[in-house]
Amino acid sequence: MSAASPAVPTLSFRDGRTIPQLGYGVFKVDPEVAADVTAQALEAGYRHIDTAKIYGNEEGVGRAIAGSGIAREDLFVTTKLWNDAHAFDDAIAACEASLERLGLDYVDLYLVHWAVPEQGRYVEAWKALIALQERGLVRAIGVSNYPKAQLEEIIEATGVAPAIHQIELHPYFQQRELREVHERHGILTEAWGPLGQGKSDLLENPAVTSVAEAHGVSPAQAVLAWHLAHGIVTIPKSVTPSRIVENLASVDVTLTAEEVAAIDALDRPDGRGGADPATKTA
Ligand code: NAD
Repeated sequence: MSAASPAVPTLSFRDGRTIPQLGYGVFKVDPEVAADVTAQALEAGYRHIDTAKIYGNEEGVGRAIAGSGIAREDLFVTTKLWNDAHAFDDAIAACEASLERLGLDYVDLYLVHWAVPEQGRYVEAWKALIALQERGLVRAIGVSNYPKAQLEEIIEATGVAPAIHQIELHPYFQQRELREVHERHGILTEAWGPLGQGKSDLLENPAVTSVAEAHGVSPAQAVLAWHLAHGIVTIPKSVTPSRIVENLASVDVTLTAEEVAAIDALDRPDGRGGADPATKTA
């Protein structure tokens, strides 16, 4: 890490453990290049990496971590349980296999990747994560892509609320209802697709570009600064070296209340770009 690496703020889970608010996501990063780009991200100063079993690149992420020389306690690593392993024993084995691929004794955060309501095993998967935490294989446990009903059901069934909920979230799809539920239960909100995954004109939207111009930063940095201003954990992905650095530097951009409000106004009822967690099938 160079001396000029930006200081990334941390947020606290209910148990007092912390998570760096901005991390590096590796969805769709080719397994062949995952080690190289993750190493670049670590070199740039990222200390939080978000991968998943289904991304097929846990080994590459693990190689980058091993080669980084960064102390394990200074890193925050997330991986996720895929939809084919919600049965209790399968989930335990899947976590052990992820740890093996990552070359780690534990991950800082393990997430159920999708609720897949149709499969009906999201409570069982959650119970497995509770067991994994008790066994020390994972430090914090959370979920991803749980509709409100299923999120409330797992809390009701186990008495344990997730530490964090990772959901599609960007200025065109702001998830206000779920964020209110999170607030009530002390669940942190984590945004996937924080830049809209390149699927829309978000980074050309005048509300975004005018905030960017006012700060002399890129539209992507303005959007990431908006996430940070809302207390959302965000994990932008890029394999372009300059953008890896640029995205991290958004932690140095502080928006005014008016600028945050201008981007808040972009929320759209049809802004979802990815699958709907309520109807997603395995
Ligand atoms: P993203 O919103 O981070 O968009 C990434 C794309 O934005 C890049 O491929 C690139 O085209 C563009 N981009 C990146 N930096 C840019 C910059 N500075 N300027 C201009 N364009 C830029 O989308 P994502 O990768 O899908 O989401 C981020 C991370 O979230 C993933 O890598 C993954 O770790 C996680 N994720 C989780 C789920 C889930 O189901 N839990 C789903 C998707 C993604």
